[in-house]
Amino acid sequence: MAAFETCRVLSVHHWNDTLFSFTTTREPSFRFESGHFVMIGLPIDGKPLMRAYSIASPSWEEHLEFLSIKVQDGALTKHLQNLKVGDEVLVGRKPTGTLVISDLLPAKRLFLFGSGTGLAPFMSIIRDPDTYERFEQVVLVHGTRLVSELAYRDFIADELKQIEGLGEEIAAKLLYYPTVTREPFHNEGRITTAISTGKMCESLGIDPINPLTDRAMICGSPEMLKDTAGELDKLGFEVSPGIGQPGDYVIERAFVER
Ligand SMILES: Cc1cc2nc3c(=O)[nH]c(=O)nc-3n(C[C@H](O)[C@H](O)[C@H](O)COP(=O)(O)OP(=O)(O)OC[C@H]3O[C@@H](n4cnc5c(N)ncnc54)[C@H](O)[C@@H]3O)c2cc1C
Repeated sequence: MAAFETCRVLSVHHWNDTLFSFTTTREPSFRFESGHFVMIGLPIDGKPLMRAYSIASPSWEEHLEFLSIKVQDGALTKHLQNLKVGDEVLVGRKPTGTLVISDLLPAKRLFLFGSGTGLAPFMSIIRDPDTYERFEQVVLVHGTRLVSELAYRDFIADELKQIEGLGEEIAAKLLYYPTVTREPFHNEGRITTAISTGKMCESLGIDPINPLTDRAMICGSPEMLKDTAGELDKLGFEVSPGIGQPGDYVIERAFVER
């Protein structure tokens, strides 16, 4: 059996000069847990060029969705950013990853900390009914440099609440905290500062983050992961030691430095 499925692009949306998202067909046999990543790519010079991508669509959705960076000299994304409806994309058959709610110990609230394209796995998790069965409240925190990088902002704030069968629960349980570092915005500053100063919980009108009541997932650059995990560790949170071993929080890199 080939290592990749060939899926067809169904839609493409460019958020700005550096970010776009797209949806593809999904093979009925393709199974994943919300929060997983998979290798995707294109045939370049006759060979598949594959990169890890978080799946942004929930596991119940008929299609697959991805949020992508556009690296101008990036081996894959210099091509991928030109995708058009009807084009073919290779999708690996083995989704995996650490950002799964089954690796979190029971608690009341779930905090999702994503920077840049680190939002992608959380777009899946916030559309999964299991998330709302496990947690009474879900707080999505998205940190970017620019306001235009807050992909899905209107979708999260409005359209998500219209999802049939799930929208009401999302409206009642999901809180959204977008924060921007390099432009004026109603929430400014890094995610770590939002945690350490108590600013995030205060402005959302909720109790301070606490390992007795809360669990967390983190997805971002290697530096963001280190710093955000450091803030949680200071508060007494304990990281999951690995897949299948539950903890107070789980982490995944949004990309690797090459
Ligand atoms: C577990 C995992 C999940 C990932 N999920 C996604 C995802 O959902 N969406 C996505 O766009 N990328 C994701 N990536 C990164 C992705 O695998 C590629 O690195 C990215 O598509 C760029 O590929 P490239 O070949 O064009 O450039 P590469 O040669 O892979 O990267 C060139 C440089 O660009 C920078 N870079 C790469 N990816 C990013 C990024 N996402 N944000 C900011 N800077 C970046 C890094 O500095 C890197 O050294 C993920 C990586 C991992 C390890």
